[in-house]
Amino acid sequence: MVAILLGPPGVGKGTQGDRLVKALGWQKVATGDLLRAARREGSELGRKAQSYMDAGDLVPDDLIVELVKEKLAGLPADAGVLFDGFPRTVPQAEALDAALPSVDRKVDVVILFEAPADVLHQRISGRRFSPDSGRIYNIYFDPPEEEGVCDEAGTPLVHRDDDQPETVARRLEVYRKQTEPLVEYYEEASAPLLRIDGDQEMQEVQSDLRSALAREVGIEVEGA
Ligand code: AMP
Repeated sequence: MVAILLGPPGVGKGTQGDRLVKALGWQKVATGDLLRAARREGSELGRKAQSYMDAGDLVPDDLIVELVKEKLAGLPADAGVLFDGFPRTVPQAEALDAALPSVDRKVDVVILFEAPADVLHQRISGRRFSPDSGRIYNIYFDPPEEEGVCDEAGTPLVHRDDDQPETVARRLEVYRKQTEPLVEYYEEASAPLLRIDGDQEMQEVQSDLRSALAREVGIEVEGA
């Protein structure tokens, strides 16, 4: 099974996706996380991606497609895969459609999260991330027990450079121009496109997501 999470930055794709893969035992492929890891390791990909990411722009398609193909080739054949933050352009979606048959897969479902722009601004600028546990907090909606410290890892939270307010506006503009055309792309594709209202409590979004998956593609998600 291959599922794609689509939606603007800050809509909650990462959080909802984490909960889903945990409950289903799937693998999440989040290109943003892979790129940040490449930067931390100081690899060639990390160095090439750096300036685009810091500006809130998209990393060139050829680098991303190569990264995803490598990742896909290394996954067990029977693992469910959830893409988060990929594809982000029509050429990336076309490259994915072209690459999946070679690993005996196809896109089975696309999940689109939607929320108004002002909500997205506040969500992104309030976001804090734990590099050690991977957990994402929000200082407005989902703060840690102790300010600035991860509940699970007990180490400091970070405010991503590209979550700073000046870069947020750019990322939302990039989404509208380069990623939103994918909605039409997937509306015309054979896999169902599920629209989920992302402007609700986290728990409600997850519950809507699970109902839609059960109803539209027969995927039953148990547990928290
Ligand atoms: P994210 O964590 O998904 O918000 O991604 C952070 C940044 O990584 C984005 O603003 C882009 O610069 C870059 N990035 C992540 N995924 C992609 C992608 N599929 N295509 C191009 N750039 C990407």
